[in-house]
Amino acid sequence: MPEPAGEFLSGRTARATARRAVDLIGALLFEETSAESVRQVLLSHGEREPLELAAADIVRLRATARELLPVFGAAGADEAARVLNSLLARACPPRLTSHGGSHAWHLHVDSTDDAPMDEWILTSSSLALAVLLAERQQVPGGLCASPRCGRPFVDTGSGGPRRYCSARCATRERVAAHRREGGGPR
Ligand SMILES: [Zn+2]
Repeated sequence: MPEPAGEFLSGRTARATARRAVDLIGALLFEETSAESVRQVLLSHGEREPLELAAADIVRLRATARELLPVFGAAGADEAARVLNSLLARACPPRLTSHGGSHAWHLHVDSTDDAPMDEWILTSSSLALAVLLAERQQVPGGLCASPRCGRPFVDTGSGGPRRYCSARCATRERVAAHRREGGGPR
């Protein structure tokens, strides 16, 4: 039985695909980018070897990351939906693929199994983020409120809106606020 990698559209896989988008955006726009760093992100999200990325792939993936970022920066669900609809307008009709039997049947909205990686990332990420938006009627994430960070994050929690990308950023900003209020070490 082939493993169900990349299966759509359960909430679980939509969240995993959205997290892949966030990690890719981080590697492409918020860190020193190399083909190897991007390759490692894709491998950590279930892509399989051989996975080769050329410099041109990185340039195109970076453009894709810039297009996905405004979804996370949207002021509300309406704005996020508008951005996602403009991205989904470039997707192809949903189709089932098993990649020749090597995976379980799952949905793709790119043009072919051999479509360029940036097309696949743009369309699958947009679909996943759209599923999450529809599920919670909210922006499916946000941008880290730390002025030193600004990275996107996926927010699927049921509590209040999340402000920071990580515990690290939340702690750093809490300490900084404490210092500003004069409560820091003397
Ligand atoms: Zn952060």
